[in-house]
Formats: sequence, C-alpha cells, structure tokens
Amino acid sequence: MDDVDFDELVASLTLREENQAIKSYQNTVAVACPACEARFDDLVVCKENPTSLNLSKQLDLCVGSADGQAVLFTHKK
Ligand SMILES: [Zn+2]
Repeated sequence: MDDVDFDELVASLTLREENQAIKSYQNTVAVACPACEARFDDLVVCKENPTSLNLSKQLDLCVGSADGQAVLFTHKK
C-alpha cells in the first residue's frame, strides 16, 4: 500500500466497532480497495499482534499494512 494515504482513506470511512483487538470501519461511500480496486465493504485494523478474527460470513480479504498494523479489506461474496 505504498501509494495509499491510509489516514485519508480512513477519513472517508465510518467507524463501526472498536475493541481491544480490532477497529472496524464501514465503507459507506464506495471507496475502492487499494489492493484489488473493487469496492470493499469493511476495513479492519488489527491493533494486537497477533489478532484473531471471528468471521461470521464468508469473505474475500485483501491485506495491507499501515503504521505497523495489519489492515484487512473485506469483500462479501
Ligand atoms: Zn480488495
């Protein structure tokens, strides 16, 4: 994600959930995923290293990193 301004990206999104392990943002404005260029549904920032995610749905994931934290872009199938 070298070419992505992560702070700018996050500023366009809506924070939905934050807990000890993750921060989850909803993509309400159809921002394109920096990895695959399709619209993503949610962006998840992993605050703990390592972090477990309990996914309730089947998702395609794109992965990046920002400021040393893993960042996931989720795409619903
Ligand atoms: Zn993607």
